[in-house]
Amino acid sequence: MANEEKSLNFIEHIIEDDLKNGYSDEQLRFRFPPEPNGYLHIGHASSICLNFGLGERYEAPVNLRFDDTNPEKEEKEFVDAIKRDIEWLGFTWDQECYASDYFQQLYDWAIGLIKAGKAYVDSQSSEEMASQKGTPTEPGTHSPFRNRSIKENLSLFERMKNGEFEEGVHVLRAKIDMASPNMLMRDPILYRVLNKAHHRTNTDWCIYPMYDWAHGQGDYIEQVSHSLCTLEFLPHRELYDWCLDQLVSPEKLRPKQREFARRNLSHTVVSKRKLLQLVNDGVVAGWDDPRMPTISGLRRRGYTPESIRNFADTIGIAKRENLVDVSLLEFHAREHLNKIAPRVMAVLNPLKVVITNYPEGGEEWLDAENNPEDETAGSRKVPFSRTLYIEREDFREQANRKFFRLKLGGEVRLKNGYIIKAESCTKDTDGNIIEVQCTYDPKSKSGSGTEESLRKVKGTLHWVSVAHAIEAEIRIYDRLFTDENPDGHKDRDFMEFVNRDSLKVVTGFLEPSLREAKVGERFQFQRLGYFNVDNDSKPGNLVFNRTVTLRDTWAKIQQKS
Ligand code: ATP
Ligand code: MG
Repeated sequence: MANEEKSLNFIEHIIEDDLKNGYSDEQLRFRFPPEPNGYLHIGHASSICLNFGLGERYEAPVNLRFDDTNPEKEEKEFVDAIKRDIEWLGFTWDQECYASDYFQQLYDWAIGLIKAGKAYVDSQSSEEMASQKGTPTEPGTHSPFRNRSIKENLSLFERMKNGEFEEGVHVLRAKIDMASPNMLMRDPILYRVLNKAHHRTNTDWCIYPMYDWAHGQGDYIEQVSHSLCTLEFLPHRELYDWCLDQLVSPEKLRPKQREFARRNLSHTVVSKRKLLQLVNDGVVAGWDDPRMPTISGLRRRGYTPESIRNFADTIGIAKRENLVDVSLLEFHAREHLNKIAPRVMAVLNPLKVVITNYPEGGEEWLDAENNPEDETAGSRKVPFSRTLYIEREDFREQANRKFFRLKLGGEVRLKNGYIIKAESCTKDTDGNIIEVQCTYDPKSKSGSGTEESLRKVKGTLHWVSVAHAIEAEIRIYDRLFTDENPDGHKDRDFMEFVNRDSLKVVTGFLEPSLREAKVGERFQFQRLGYFNVDNDSKPGNLVFNRTVTLRDTWAKIQQKS
């Protein structure tokens, strides 16, 4: 078994106990059950890694089950996106299942319930039903329709199915206990009429089962051994068990619902409904906007599947909800990208440097290592010439001794190139520096083996040759929300905390090796961060996203402000 060295989480303890108490390895089966009403987000990644991780650990099948019982919000587009995202994360499901595959079976079972006197058609308004629910400390009261005859219930339920009623006129309710301390057991609704076409069953059905009358049943049909869900379903467990009691036969395995805590990420929201609002309100460009905490947004942003899986494995699962800092996710992105991303040079805020003692019109192609973390990554050539760009922030006329970048009279090494010394600079009429004149030491070329090439200077700068540089659109992202927990304010809506400056677009100047960069390819722009080629990129019109900076500057900026 994999992960043997890691200590078991509490779900694994439950499974180990079950294995000791009579379950066989072959009986283990899991499922990941998304509702196709939006795109998967980073919270789902935790559930995916949990379920598929258990599958790997116990060599057990994991089903992908679409929980598609609400045609009002569900769409094929979401089904396809969910499948794409799970595959991209690197997991393979056993069966692809849909709650809608079970509509006929669920209906037949509901008829069985009615015949057993355990379900009835209620013809009250939802307000009337709500007024009878009672409170957690006071019992509810019975519906006047609770004692309808079995015959009348069967007839009405069939007519509901046949489309004879408008929405809301009748519902099917389980007849359990209106005095139960668990409000969910107070005659919960099992079926309602919805005159909506379903993305798979189209208009075959106009009654749809509620979650509680579909989920455990689906688990039972698929013989899922451990049905893992988030904590808000804890009070549903009793109903889950009640529903199973009505159908489980002794020779079949009885699924178990167990709960774990939702994972929340700081500076964002993880709720499909709220993410949909961001899309619909135009706060972001779509579900896969690189600022979104969706799997597709993170993918487009340049995250690797490995970094997301490592993040989910590191935070593990918990019994209590908490807020995980987004910088931990970014840490995992850096950690993996550091190993795999080729290094290149790009200047995003250019300042012109002229090497006055370098021959006019001269050029040479310098050796540059692609990735010091990866011996197999090889090297490339970068062009050097008399006129270069460096970052504006890397030059100051005067600076103290802690400024290891370029200042008048000071020296720096140009990455992969020569040592230069700043001699003078020119300014425009407003006093802005527009050019720095430098001299270079011709013997100091990196890797040339001369004594001068080994000479140590404090700073090393990245640069590009102006004549050879290619221009690209660079998209720089900031947190989507200014507040750490936008969703955590009682009297303020999460939308109030949207960061209106979360996207900045600049023109970058890139070394020419990037001319052929393909959509999705990831790079380290040296000293700046990790960047990838965005979907909007076209040959001759490159667009890059900044995935993450090289260091966690956010925490520092926050401390200062
Ligand atoms: P949302 O509110 O975003 O729609 P959901 O729970 O309704 O979330 P589902 O599609 O029903 O979304 O979720 C599929 C599975 O993923 C469920 O088992 C659910 O419990 C789990 N899940 C959803 N969000 C999280 C989260 N933030 N952390 C961990 N697991 C989650
Ligand atoms: Mg949901």
